Amino acid sequence: MRRIYLLGECMVELSQTSGGLLKQSYAGDAYNTAVYLKRMFSEVQVNFFTTVGEDQLSDNMVTSFESEQIGTDLVFRAKDKAPGLYMIDTDDDGERSFTYWRECSAARQAMQFVTAEVVGQLCMGDVFFFSGISLAVIEPNDREIFWLLMRKLKDTGVKIAFDPNYRARMWKDKTEAKIQFERAFRMADLVLPGIEDFTQLYGFDDLSSIKKFCGAHGIDELIIKNGAKSVYCMSEQQVQEIEISPVSGVVDTTSAGDSFNGGYMGARLQGLSIADSVAVGATVAGFVILHPGAIVPNQTFTKFNEQ
Ligand code: ADP
Repeated sequence: MRRIYLLGECMVELSQTSGGLLKQSYAGDAYNTAVYLKRMFSEVQVNFFTTVGEDQLSDNMVTSFESEQIGTDLVFRAKDKAPGLYMIDTDDDGERSFTYWRECSAARQAMQFVTAEVVGQLCMGDVFFFSGISLAVIEPNDREIFWLLMRKLKDTGVKIAFDPNYRARMWKDKTEAKIQFERAFRMADLVLPGIEDFTQLYGFDDLSSIKKFCGAHGIDELIIKNGAKSVYCMSEQQVQEIEISPVSGVVDTTSAGDSFNGGYMGARLQGLSIADSVAVGATVAGFVILHPGAIVPNQTFTKFNEQ
């Protein structure tokens, strides 16, 4: 059985419903990726690596991981901490804005739980996935623990997958983000950025500058998402730009990139080609954006999977 570990933070999500009531769910980029990967490829063992608190909300969150069949062996409990929280507000024009309360969240402690046993377990994985958000969430003082762990995993033969998912507000400044991302680019075997990650951080908005930049970092497999336009793929064997069929009736693009990553990595783990894996990623993402919220209700998704 193929096995993947994903490091990240799952937060409590509050979103407004008609009538002013708040709906509560759970989301976060790496977690969203884990959910869609598992829903698409139930035969892959998907494990989430994070820290939650010892409170009831954390218990409920872990129960929801389990209900998605996501492995929780590496979900640790930090004393006196609670999960991060964010709220989605929608203005009169339908524009969404996000407010976060995550500065002291339990997930920031994850590296404190890295023991020899944890390293041993992660070494059993085929792939280890993290994002720029996973990186930003780690306490700055713990970052060296993370990079030592990455070195060990890479030397053991675990494939490292990285989505920069740049969020300016999570970093002290661009320089801090760039230093960490450079290390991630050099370490990663598979990189799954969106065009905007490069535009915001490096000022590149065309594929050729991005290709040149990534070429200098020795990335084996580079998959660049460009919204409804195309997906650019570069690997040792091939360079190809795959057109995306735009879907109509987009409701909410939250989690488009995350669900694409889940579909893509699941397909690659199951031995599909790059082009076929892009098709899986694009199909899942194209479905997810037709629904509100990061995680489409499981019942709705089951129907999609049966098609
Ligand atoms: P991110 O969320 O990382 O910014 P993108 O906006 O590039 O990612 O979208 C990720 C994927 O979602 C795209 O590669 C594509 O497969 C799919 N996607 C996004 N927007 C559309 C759309 N309008 N129609 C069809 N697919 C879309």
